[in-house]
Amino acid sequence: MSVSCAGIGEVRAPLLQGLWECVRAGQEDILLSPYLPALYGFVIHLLLCAPFLVLDTLGRVCQRVRSWRITAGSGPPPPLRRWVGCFWKVLYQYLTTIVPATALFQRVRSPVMPELAPSCWQFFVEVFACLLLFDMLFFIWHICMHRFPWLYRNIHQLHHRHHIPFALAAQDSNSGELLSLLLLALSSAWVLGCHPLSEAFFHLINSWLAVEAHCGYDLPLALHRLLPCLGGAPYHQAHHTLLSVNYAPYFTHWDLLFGTFRAPVKRSQ
Ligand SMILES: [Zn+2]
Ligand SMILES: [Zn+2]
Repeated sequence: MSVSCAGIGEVRAPLLQGLWECVRAGQEDILLSPYLPALYGFVIHLLLCAPFLVLDTLGRVCQRVRSWRITAGSGPPPPLRRWVGCFWKVLYQYLTTIVPATALFQRVRSPVMPELAPSCWQFFVEVFACLLLFDMLFFIWHICMHRFPWLYRNIHQLHHRHHIPFALAAQDSNSGELLSLLLLALSSAWVLGCHPLSEAFFHLINSWLAVEAHCGYDLPLALHRLLPCLGGAPYHQAHHTLLSVNYAPYFTHWDLLFGTFRAPVKRSQ
């Protein structure tokens, strides 16, 4: 496979180009479908939650798994009926609000499918820039939700009924909340002019970080243990418990800057 070089940082990785050609092959109609963002968001959310459903099931019989639960009274893993109830609620929000609203947004946005994949550098910069931008927008949105009582009562409070969240509950919210966060994520990629491959990867990482933040476990190989700039599940669980701290979704710098950071309680081994 050929590698085109247009200068330093413009090396097109054969892997990315091959992946992009594979994704595009005969799939243009699907890739340009206005329903794709909602479908992709829903399906990857379910798939990324699956390992935590296994973990929650194992946690009912395995002490080792329970020892990874976050301290400060996180309690036993949620039973299967909570997962099932949550699944139907999220599905209902998608069918009634998210699918039609994001389809409308996609029609306005009219995405295009370029021939070439992004270069490695472009891919990395776009994904990282999307994460930084979305992190900032979410932080502002989240502060507003907590500082304005009307917004909290009518939109955000529903998500906070989970004092001790679990993976699937990352999307268990009021339809207005779910929609606004999905539109913020789509807009972040749109404003930055991302390549569709970078955007798809950003949404994948975004979903994973949201699922991990709500999973209820402080796992030995969790991302926040490898990358200290990330808050992770203990950080977000502190938000669900205390409400007035740790507003950012991934990184901790905005909370540190605005004095709303609260260090999570360390898991006892
Ligand atoms: Zn949450
Ligand atoms: Zn909140």
